[in-house]
Amino acid sequence: MEITFANKRALVTGAGKGIGRATALALARCGAEVVGATRTQADLDSLLLECPSIKPVCVDLSDWEATDAVLKDIGPVDLLVNNAAFPALQPFLEVTPDMFDISFNTNVKAPLHVAQIVARGMKARGTGGSIVNVSSQASQCALKDHAVYCATKGALDMLTRVMALELGPYQIRVNSVNPTVVMTDMGRLGWSDPEKARTMTSRIPLGRFAEVEDVVNAILFLLSDKSAMTNGVTLPVDGGFLAC
Ligand code: NDP
Repeated sequence: MEITFANKRALVTGAGKGIGRATALALARCGAEVVGATRTQADLDSLLLECPSIKPVCVDLSDWEATDAVLKDIGPVDLLVNNAAFPALQPFLEVTPDMFDISFNTNVKAPLHVAQIVARGMKARGTGGSIVNVSSQASQCALKDHAVYCATKGALDMLTRVMALELGPYQIRVNSVNPTVVMTDMGRLGWSDPEKARTMTSRIPLGRFAEVEDVVNAILFLLSDKSAMTNGVTLPVDGGFLAC
């Protein structure tokens, strides 16, 4: 199955590292004009060295006003990947208000806000579009020390469904991918300990964590016309973890 994004403009958040970076590069390889947004300039510099056609945007997406300021002149966007997230790891009894706020601001409020900006443009142009929110298996399964992270991803899944409901009439599709652990910087934070990693892989029928490419391929599928009738789904990329 060949997927091309010629004549499409894509915005990827969290494009500096991990899944977001790989998604931005894959979209560019598939012919899209890509805008990559993240908050660390050094990551954007190295991304541009790897792919000079990517348009960089440096912003802390948890800051509503700063996001408005940088995205207002971004131009038409056909494809949005809401990928940036904050990985709060705290036992439930030790959850702090600042961790709660930064997590919800980054993982829920920012995707909502970026999608509002992008979808208003899609609606005004009447061209439709596709939005993929990067959620997690943690949205649907309790994980120790992940209370706030799980809560943000559960909220993101429901946001995906309501967005699909309200934006569908404008031919804007909204779906999420829900990966299991991927050994990016974020994945290593929680799952580097081999003993702990085994407790997770033993619950994944395929017996392994996901690779970055597994997630990127699912994102590309949901962005593309190959999924033209798919709207409002939360697609596990989890080797069967959520099926058990
Ligand atoms: P990484 O930590 O490797 O990369 C996240 C990227 O998002 C970084 O470039 C980071 O920038 C950026 N980012 C974070 N906060 C902000 C912000 N406020 N404003 C702008 N950019 C920001 O994470 P992954 O690639 O692993 O994760 C990508 C997505 O996949 C996330 O939504 C995550 O929840 C989800 N996911 C990841 C899993 C995993 O095991 N890795 C499993 C399931 C889901 P900086 O480094 O400068 O902070």
